[in-house]
Amino acid sequence: MSNVLLKVENLKKYFPLRTGMFSRKSGDVKAVDDISFDVYEGETLGIVGESGCGKSTTGRVIMRLHEPTDGKVTFKGVELTALSEKEMRLARRDIQMVFQDPYASLNPRHTVGKILEEPLIVHGIGTQEERKSKVHEYLEIVGLSAYHAKRYPHQFSGGQRQRIGIARALMTNPKLIIADEPVSALDVSIQAQVLNLMQKLQKDLKLTYIFIAHDLGVVRHISDRVGVMYLGRIVELAESEMLYEAPLHPYSQALLSAVPIPDPIYEREQVILNGDIPSPSNPPAGCAFHTRCPFVMDVCKQQVPSFLQAKPGHSVACHLYSGK
Ligand code: SF4
Repeated sequence: MSNVLLKVENLKKYFPLRTGMFSRKSGDVKAVDDISFDVYEGETLGIVGESGCGKSTTGRVIMRLHEPTDGKVTFKGVELTALSEKEMRLARRDIQMVFQDPYASLNPRHTVGKILEEPLIVHGIGTQEERKSKVHEYLEIVGLSAYHAKRYPHQFSGGQRQRIGIARALMTNPKLIIADEPVSALDVSIQAQVLNLMQKLQKDLKLTYIFIAHDLGVVRHISDRVGVMYLGRIVELAESEMLYEAPLHPYSQALLSAVPIPDPIYEREQVILNGDIPSPSNPPAGCAFHTRCPFVMDVCKQQVPSFLQAKPGHSVACHLYSGK
C-alpha cells in the first residue's frame, strides 16, 4: 500500500449543549467521538452514515474549520492540530474542500473568474496574467470553457456549478480533497458525470480524496476503502469490495440491505432497524448501536466495543468479533 498522507488519531469534536436563561453548559453533543483512521496517497476513502452521524463534522475538523476537542491530525508528517491559525491557512493550500451545495458556496456577486482566482490571491500565487491563464486552464480541465470566467454562478446549472466548485478546490494544486456530499444535491444523471470527472481528475492530478456521503451506492462507485460512521464513531472500515460483499457490523449490514442490487437473480434480505438514531448528546452506554441492534448481547450494553482488525484490510467495532 502507498504512503500514509493523512493520519487521524483519537479525534473528538464535542459541541457544548447550553440550556436555560443563562445558557449554562448542560452537556455535550458528541459529534465526533474518538475516531482514528489513515488515508493513503492516491486513494479515495469513503465515509458513510446517516444524517447526524458526524461524517461532515469529521471533514471540517480535519480542515480545522471546527477546532477539535481532542485528538491529532497529521498531514504529510505535519501535525495540523498543533499549527497556529496562520500556519493552518498555509496548510489549506494542500487540503481543499468541495461542498454539497455549490450555489451556496459560490459568491453570487462575483464572476466565476473572480471566484476561481481568489484562492490564488489568498495564497499569493502567480502574477495577474498567470492567475487569469490558470483560471481558464482549470475551467477547461473541469469540462467548462474559458469564456465562462465572465459569467456569474446563477447562469449555470447545478452540475456546472459543482464543476466550478471542484475547479476552485483545485486552483492551489492540493494533494487532498475532502468532498462533503458533492453530488447529493444533483440529479442522478448529473451525479454520474460529476463522479466520472472526479475520478478522471484524481488520476490525472494524482489526488487523494475523502468522499463523504450518505448514499452508499455513490460511495461504492468511487471509493477504494469505506468507513461506516454511527453516532460519532467509525464502526467498520474495509476495502470497498469487502464491505459491500460481506459487511460485518450489524449497522453496516442494515444500511447495505437497503441498497438495491443491479442483479435481478441475486436478492439480499432487507434488515429493518428498530427505532431512531439516539441523540448524540445522550448516546447509549456500551455499544451506541445496542438500542437498535438485532444481535444485542448483555456485554453490548456495558462495554464500548474496541475497533479491531477482524481480517486483513477489514476492521470492526462489535463484540460479535472481539471474542468476548
Ligand atoms: Fe450489536 Fe453488540 Fe455488535 Fe453493538 S457490539 S453492533 S450491540 S452485537
